[in-house]
Amino acid sequence: NLSARLSGVVKTLSGNARLTESNIKDALREIRIALLEADVALPVVKQFVDTIREEALGEKVVGSLTPGQALVGVVNDKLTELMGGFNDKLNLSAVPPAIILMAGLQGAGKTTTVGKLAKRLKEAEKKKVLVVSCDVYRPAAIEQLKTLAKSLDIECFPSSVEEKPEAIALAAVDYAKKHYFDVLLVDTAGRLTIDEYMMQEIKNLHQTLNPVETLFVVDAMLGQDAVNTAKAFNDTLNLTGVILTKMDGDARGGAALSIRQVTGKPIKFIGVSEKVAGLEPFYPDRMASRILGMGDILSLIEEVQGNVDEVEAKKLMEKVKKGKGFDLNDFKMQFEQMNNMGGMGKILDKLPGNIAEKAPQVINDKMIKKNVAIIDSMTSEERRKPDLLKASRKRRIALGSGTSVQEVNQLLKQYEQVSQMMKKFSGGGIFKMMKNFKH
Ligand code: GDP
Ligand code: MG
Repeated sequence: NLSARLSGVVKTLSGNARLTESNIKDALREIRIALLEADVALPVVKQFVDTIREEALGEKVVGSLTPGQALVGVVNDKLTELMGGFNDKLNLSAVPPAIILMAGLQGAGKTTTVGKLAKRLKEAEKKKVLVVSCDVYRPAAIEQLKTLAKSLDIECFPSSVEEKPEAIALAAVDYAKKHYFDVLLVDTAGRLTIDEYMMQEIKNLHQTLNPVETLFVVDAMLGQDAVNTAKAFNDTLNLTGVILTKMDGDARGGAALSIRQVTGKPIKFIGVSEKVAGLEPFYPDRMASRILGMGDILSLIEEVQGNVDEVEAKKLMEKVKKGKGFDLNDFKMQFEQMNNMGGMGKILDKLPGNIAEKAPQVINDKMIKKNVAIIDSMTSEERRKPDLLKASRKRRIALGSGTSVQEVNQLLKQYEQVSQMMKKFSGGGIFKMMKNFKH
């Protein structure tokens, strides 16, 4: 994998060496190969490597990392950013029913994904969901959806092969309105390859329905071919998102980057099995690691940064030690310091396992920024007394920080956990432990 390859590429530089044109040359070549092997489309690879070269120059090489390894850190961040940074949620904000139109080639996984989405919306979001098949060319396809819906206890609007897709869809919308469904999932026909007839049909359907989500379902195993299909669909329909299916196979993830780059549309979910439960939100950071196949190198980077910043860690702990109460102002300060420290994960790594397990999940840089924004949107009184934060205040804070109430809750939960940890080990406990358990 990439880390093995890179280890021989450039000599170790220690101290404050920076990435330069010459010390990253070989590493860039390896990264290029890694991306191609991960099935990222060639033009996307080229453009990406150029961007990375520009952005990496001057970047500091920390501790015992080689420039090549430092560069991988930059690549990972950039890949994550290019794939959207965060998970993009389904948009259901429409006058009910929120219509979701599925588009894609035959065999991409549209019908299966309709089932998966319906299940998810029903169970996780408590929505009343109606599904309908507009695949009038294959009676078996209609039957497939009907059976699937039945197994999930979800209503399937009846369709007949005698009717036109638009007529069926409109009747389903009408029915959904009359019976107060929240969401209508519209399954469509696909072809084995893109043809004009299919494109025209789905275009008409799209115009008629004016869906709030138009999701392009695509088989990740298609690799580079997926890109052309995605482009064709995106040019015809105004896609709102992509679902990459069959990520459980040996798909290497490159399609995610290519499709995102070519369409500019967010990947919202990935399909990870044939079963109805096999749908997961798409997380750009995880996909970045998958593309680079480099979990090991990332942990190495974290380790090195953690060691270099020990002085910072000590300062932070001293502060906590002295502080009487641990409030949200302190929490914010911690985030800011963690930012320079290689993250919360680094501190936790040095704690004994049973404590680390109870501590909040690893916090990444973007989450840190988000959390700081949330705390910034609180009044100083709220920061001192987090107990004041009830529903209406949370809503205001979410609005003010461009986040959601759920994210505000997440932050408060983390705060609670950290706060408890602090209480337990006040009086220098944590720092002593860090010393004792250092590897
Ligand atoms: P459609 O023609 O686009 O409606 O595709 P289908 O939903 O009928 O799926 C085609 C095949 O792909 C079926 O055998 C599905 O079980 C399979 N499939 C769909 N999604 C996934 C997935 O995420 N993982 C795996 N392994 N198989 C999938
Ligand atoms: Mg189908």
